[in-house]
Amino acid sequence: MTMHDRLLPDEEATTALGRRLAGLLPGGGVIYLHGDLGAGKTTFARAFLRALGVGERVKSPTYSLVEGYDLGERRAFHLDLYRIADPGELEWLGLDNLAEPGAVVLVEWPERGRGALPRADLEIHFRHEDAGRAVRFEPFTDAGRRLVQGLAE
Ligand code: ADP
Ligand code: MG
Repeated sequence: MTMHDRLLPDEEATTALGRRLAGLLPGGGVIYLHGDLGAGKTTFARAFLRALGVGERVKSPTYSLVEGYDLGERRAFHLDLYRIADPGELEWLGLDNLAEPGAVVLVEWPERGRGALPRADLEIHFRHEDAGRAVRFEPFTDAGRRLVQGLAE
């Protein structure tokens, strides 16, 4: 494992990571969540959104593709693009507000929305590891690098 890898032995570890990263986020940010079905992306996203103040209102975007939350000073968006066959389908969703300043954006299956999504500050790769999960962090911007750095402190 590299310094950008982390073991998540149980569900609580995935939840704790979501809470922790949410707390490190200064304002907005775009995070892509990669990984097979069952790898822990939604578990992470729910914990992250709850910690941002969405509380028990967190819904699943499995069918709606995108859920948005007004958090007062910023807005959060949770996308699950598993059911998208072609990024062109996303035009109907009107995703322009994802790029608004201060928006917090979490995207499951981002590879299915290529070209229609704002660029990621951080990409997190989830995978099965024995009975648990593991993640690898791949930052793309200074903001993303600060998040990964913050996790290590
Ligand atoms: P995805 O959104 O990637 O398809 P989910 O977040 O829905 O995956 O998770 C699928 C299952 O994995 C859930 O039942 C969840 O409880 C479990 N899970 C999440 N994180 C872990 C972990 N670190 N270890 C073991 N099970 C986990
Ligand atoms: Mg999911």
